[in-house]
Amino acid sequence: MGRVVLRCIECNEKATELHRDYSNGILKITLCGSCQKPVDKYIEYDPVIILIDAILCKTQAFRHILFNTSLDIHWKLCAFCVLCEAYLRWSLLHSSEPSGHPADIIRYAKEWEFYGMVALASLELAAFCGGVLCLLWAVPGRLQGHDVWPLLRALLLSCYGKVLLVPAVIWEHDFSPLCLGLIKLFVLTSNSQAVRVILNCRRRLALVAVGAGLLSEMLVARACQAGGEHPGDGGHV
Ligand SMILES: [Zn+2]
Repeated sequence: MGRVVLRCIECNEKATELHRDYSNGILKITLCGSCQKPVDKYIEYDPVIILIDAILCKTQAFRHILFNTSLDIHWKLCAFCVLCEAYLRWSLLHSSEPSGHPADIIRYAKEWEFYGMVALASLELAAFCGGVLCLLWAVPGRLQGHDVWPLLRALLLSCYGKVLLVPAVIWEHDFSPLCLGLIKLFVLTSNSQAVRVILNCRRRLALVAVGAGLLSEMLVARACQAGGEHPGDGGHV
């Protein structure tokens, strides 16, 4: 996996260091040679402030996280988000059923259904990332010859909003469909901002790339639905 170079969060210019350590114990934030502003003001900020700015989709906060930190929780976060999504679908599947089946066989069938949902959610996430990467690959000069890992890491990290699916399921109420729609919109907005920051491209290209990912995700979901109504029933019933 290639090391992402440090960048100025204001003007996206490459930087060699974020701060300079003087021998008498004084640390000083480096100023950008291009825009004369601090290369990365966020190194002094509290993580909560950085998170709030990332939630607000500020370009500077995204540049700080994606270029100037070595945050490597993307695979764990991705696994957690897949589990959240699988749990949401699984609970929606059973929300209309009367509860209280004591039989073990029903419990096992439900468990297999959950694994089926995990597989489906993973497949859809892979289809989404694949769709985004394929579209950007087709645009000349964007991904060809570049390392795709930083973009993949950015896509996975920017899915962090899916964690909100858990409270949306637990505190179920009449507005749940609206909440789920808003969470989806928020995740897609973060995804497009991540693409824009990594490639330093226009907003329109990032939106088109995310749209292509969404389309590919929906096609895979439709194909899986058509392939079997109960993907995980395992032949128990
Ligand atoms: Zn700068």
